[in-house]
Amino acid sequence: MSGRLAVIGLGPGDARYLTREAEDALASADAVYGYSAYLDRVPSRPGQARHGSDNREEPARAAAALRHAAEGANVAVVSGGDPGVFAMAAAVCEQIEAGPPGWRALDVQIVPGITAMLAVAARVGAPLGHDFCAISLSDNLKPWDLIERRLAAAAAAGFVIALYNPASRARPGQIGKALTLLRRHLPAATAIIFGRAVSRPDEQLTITTLEDAGRVPADMATLIIVGSRDTRVIYREDEAPLVYTPRAVAGAMA
Ligand code: SAH
Repeated sequence: MSGRLAVIGLGPGDARYLTREAEDALASADAVYGYSAYLDRVPSRPGQARHGSDNREEPARAAAALRHAAEGANVAVVSGGDPGVFAMAAAVCEQIEAGPPGWRALDVQIVPGITAMLAVAARVGAPLGHDFCAISLSDNLKPWDLIERRLAAAAAAGFVIALYNPASRARPGQIGKALTLLRRHLPAATAIIFGRAVSRPDEQLTITTLEDAGRVPADMATLIIVGSRDTRVIYREDEAPLVYTPRAVAGAMA
């Protein structure tokens, strides 16, 4: 009996963002593993076991799911957004690489989901319309000075930057430090978007500038998009502004 492990993206929150593939994979699982807050989004099914854990226990959760799948079960691991973006798919691969040879024989399937950066971008226009990158501000798994070097390099290279994990209770001050650094590389008027709990009932969107961004609160549920020098805001009378980054770099088509 060969086991199966599906790492499933649940999207940013709203059930309409769950793909049909994710629904099918959830429906056929014998057991579902995940951070408890994400598991709460998965409707419980009779006969399906649920294993919720803390969000800092990713390696242990991945190993537990792999052990279970290796017993022949059809196991699902859930992630918010996309499982491959700062999430469980890489944690599962790390465990497979370091784990017993039998884990390499498992049928492993990664089921993509809509990642937070895409959900936030879609709310405000097309800020990711030209080259962009994504950086996690969490220094749990990398040193802070590397984060600062990457931020500086990305801003100087003209990338729009999506910032995941901008703050947590344990790291309240890092977003302030990141903004201070970005102000050295980008004009004060650079557009910045704060998207909090996007697609959930408590969604909050703020469009501001690098100069004023320090006044906007950011927490674990916030995704920040820092514009490039080319990012523009179209103000409209009766509708929310549209933020976008043109497909062509200014001057490049001349
Ligand atoms: N795999 C997830 C990201 C995990 S890292 C994904 O693809 O979206 C967790 C970070 O994702 C949070 O700190 C926040 O920056 C972002 N995030 C996740 N869901 C969000 C949502 N609904 N609205 C805004 N940001 C969100």
